[in-house]
Amino acid sequence: MSRRVIGPDEDHHVHSTFSDDAVSTPAQNLAAADRAALRVVRMVDHVRESTTYVPEFLAAVRALPRIEGLTVLTGVEAKILDADGTVDAPPEVLASIGEPHGADRVLLADHQVPGPDGPWSPHATLQRIVDGLDPQDVIEMLLTATIRAIQRVGPAQLAHPFSVLPKIGISEDDVPDELLDALADVAIAAGTLVEVNEKWQCPSTRVADRWRAAGVQLVPSTDAHTEADVGRYEWVCTA
Ligand SMILES: [Zn+2]
Ligand SMILES: [Zn+2]
Repeated sequence: MSRRVIGPDEDHHVHSTFSDDAVSTPAQNLAAADRAALRVVRMVDHVRESTTYVPEFLAAVRALPRIEGLTVLTGVEAKILDADGTVDAPPEVLASIGEPHGADRVLLADHQVPGPDGPWSPHATLQRIVDGLDPQDVIEMLLTATIRAIQRVGPAQLAHPFSVLPKIGISEDDVPDELLDALADVAIAAGTLVEVNEKWQCPSTRVADRWRAAGVQLVPSTDAHTEADVGRYEWVCTA
């Protein structure tokens, strides 16, 4: 029930061929958004610190034909690198987020666990847990890094929050309320959007309900890597 209320006529996370793992052009994604009768689509591609294509990507999106009733937004998706909340994106891209010449938002992604010494792969994290690291410490590290990342960047959106947890054998149910509330406070203060993500089926209903009740602005996203998935929800709309 709770996931149903967040506007299925919006899709805040759609990848194009500017991402090396996606297959549709921005124009194809725009046409798909139109066919799906979306009101809002956010064009997003992956960046890392060495990425150089962002001006070209933004120019391509801005050159798209206007479609009546469809708002096109932009974003760059970057992973949170470490426990300090360092974000894996070119500094000039981060500096221009929310500016007229920059992307509208940076999508902060938990593709790896942000460790004190840099990103930990799920495999390396699992090994540390086997070796005695307390899963609660991993959860706290992830939440702290996410909070710090929000505070370091301009307008942000949390991409698929907690998608990394199942990869390291941790359930969202193990994330304590007080950490959820601490993240909510920071997200609200910063105006951070938080995705409910179709591809990764996260966050859980418990988490989404708690954040919504706290006043966090949740947005639906498919994380589409092909035009066929743009604006198509099953999990997001069927809870
Ligand atoms: Zn991602
Ligand atoms: Zn993505």
